Amino acid sequence: MRIYNIAAIPGDGIGTEVISAGLEVLDALAARDGAFRIQATHFDWGADRYLAKGAMMPADGLDQIKPFDAIFFGSAGDPRVPDHVTLWGLRLAICQPFDQYANVRPARILPGVTSPLRGVAPGDLDWVIVRENSEGEYAGAGGRVHQGHAHEVGMDVAVFTRAGVERVQRFALDLARSRPRKHLTLVTKSNAQRHGMVMWDAIFEQVKGDYPDVTTDKVLVDAMTVRMVLKPQTLDTIVATNLHADVLSDLAAALTGSLGLAPTANLNPERKFPSMFEPIHGSAFDIIGQGIANPIGAFWSASMMLEHLGEAQAAATLMTAIEQVTGAGRVRPRDLGGQATTHEVTEAVIAAIGGANA
Ligand code: NAD
Ligand code: MN
Repeated sequence: MRIYNIAAIPGDGIGTEVISAGLEVLDALAARDGAFRIQATHFDWGADRYLAKGAMMPADGLDQIKPFDAIFFGSAGDPRVPDHVTLWGLRLAICQPFDQYANVRPARILPGVTSPLRGVAPGDLDWVIVRENSEGEYAGAGGRVHQGHAHEVGMDVAVFTRAGVERVQRFALDLARSRPRKHLTLVTKSNAQRHGMVMWDAIFEQVKGDYPDVTTDKVLVDAMTVRMVLKPQTLDTIVATNLHADVLSDLAAALTGSLGLAPTANLNPERKFPSMFEPIHGSAFDIIGQGIANPIGAFWSASMMLEHLGEAQAAATLMTAIEQVTGAGRVRPRDLGGQATTHEVTEAVIAAIGGANA
């Protein structure tokens, strides 16, 4: 029996709802497979802990989760606590020290789901966005000076390092190479940002030479929003900085039907630290506690986690089960225009797993 130790950190808001649904689905997959087991340890870190104890996670939190095979994460964010406190206190407090520098965000239209783009069907939009996840605009460098005075200053300094840029671009080139179209689009803003972004472009020109079988192109981030909407078929694998890819991947999720569907993997490709898998969405304050959050983004993230753990068969079974449920259209969550609750979608996916052929 292969046993995977998973640190489950549901966090805040609907994170708690979709992660418990995701763990149910993982158990169903393990039961069907029979050869592996998911051993989840629950960490109650988040805004409730912050309000009770003054910190989102304990001081030795990273030591506690470092031995795990992977982290299954919900969301950090609560209406009672400022967003930068929750995000830096939990999600970024894990991503950065664990050097999860490659954030992988697949976006494609699932069967039975209608894109808001007119005439765009499954197959017309099949992307993977690779987000630099350790530095850039979210490096955390900067400060506030003269706080509260009229001449107050606030600075966020974007930090680009040659090593950081090269490793994520190589990761994206490798990923592009593994996909049928072997095409990578570099997103930049080197017309306006003439230091770090010009270096970002120059390093790409150098490293892409090692990948003669991958075709590439380069787009300014503002033009990229237009291309994503008007010519989705022209894109395949995409690499962008931390901020750019953050914004573009929410757009990508919306274009595939809903933010509630979108998954992500925060990878430490060298496996020196555990990688973290989470739906792209946040705590969704407007629907907390109603039991109506779409859990599919969490399920798809669980599939990426299984893939990372080496359980490719179970990962594929889960994607097939998700696609059967969206394709059949009988059990449709509210963000996709239906009436189904989180529980009903979860039961439908578990039933599809049970009925799947080996
Ligand atoms: P959000 O993703 O929480 O919500 C945006 C909109 O999408 C809301 O209308 C919400 O109801 C809807 N939505 C999101 N996920 C859904 C789902 N699974 N099913 C149905 N509808 C869904 O983004 P926001 O409102 O910008 O952020 C809310 C809080 O979450 C903030 O505190 C923010 O900092 C935090 N956040 C955390 C993460 C993270 O931890 N990875 C990511 C994004 C936002
Ligand atoms: Mn985001």
